[in-house]
Amino acid sequence: AERARLAASSGPGRTKDGHPVKLLLNIGSADDLRPGAEGVGLFRTEFLFLDRTTAPSYGEQVDAYAEVFSRAETVIVRTLDAGTDKPLPFLGLPAEPNPALGVRGLRVDRLLPDVLDTQLDAIAEAARKTGAEAWVMAPMVTTEAEAAAFARRARARGVTRVGAMVEVPAAALRAGRLLREVDFLSIGTNDLAQYTFAADRQHSALADLLDPRQPALLELVAMCAAAGREAGKPVGVCGEAAGDPLLAPLLVGLGVTSLSMAAVCVPAVREALADLTLAQCQERAAQALA
Ligand code: PEP
Ligand code: MG
Repeated sequence: AERARLAASSGPGRTKDGHPVKLLLNIGSADDLRPGAEGVGLFRTEFLFLDRTTAPSYGEQVDAYAEVFSRAETVIVRTLDAGTDKPLPFLGLPAEPNPALGVRGLRVDRLLPDVLDTQLDAIAEAARKTGAEAWVMAPMVTTEAEAAAFARRARARGVTRVGAMVEVPAAALRAGRLLREVDFLSIGTNDLAQYTFAADRQHSALADLLDPRQPALLELVAMCAAAGREAGKPVGVCGEAAGDPLLAPLLVGLGVTSLSMAAVCVPAVREALADLTLAQCQERAAQALA
């Protein structure tokens, strides 16, 4: 029984009736890697370079990515996500009156295209060196044109799987169109809540407005999952909601195929899913939407 419990505590995530749900890790560097998950669903690459005043070189980036690739099975690398909550001094971006609505995430590419090109080259090279498959996604994708342009750039550099994060309501509304351009979607519920409810994610007085249990957010998640089902492509969640054992079954009930979270959250989410059938998850999702 002990061995069975141990096996169940490190194998793939499953509902009580065996429906598979990939449980993945959110990491900021190789130091955050832990056993017990099926791979990395969100590698926040900006965390490697937060305190830098000079741009990380191509070689430094190759080494940092290769270290993670050599220690984890599948890794979804997110390209640099500079923003109000994660300023990257080496980019030298001008101050803005409305930074959360400004040049952040993939939008930085409008001002500094070399940054993304170098990063994509470094990711592809690290994948080649380690024999890993490079999955890459962009933060703050807003339109299908942005998704298409990003996919073109990434594929031209040898990236095999290209994805878009869904963090802006416009992207969720057009999830089906986005999936014509990319291979997978990853829903960032932290930013998706911020932009859906027009509430600064760092503002403690607005915590109730940012609660991802709200039907408006869940409907956007459901739209993305439905688009994924139709396209036959994976749609996961990598915001904090994915690591909440009360919310995880609900997200699975809405139809997402993977949940990516901090390593400490994996055991509780695994248990929560193992306690419920897929039908029970779907029931919870329907109740929450109602
Ligand atoms: C998110 O927005 O939900 C997300 C996963 O990205 P970050 O928290 O790094 O903005
Ligand atoms: Mg985000």
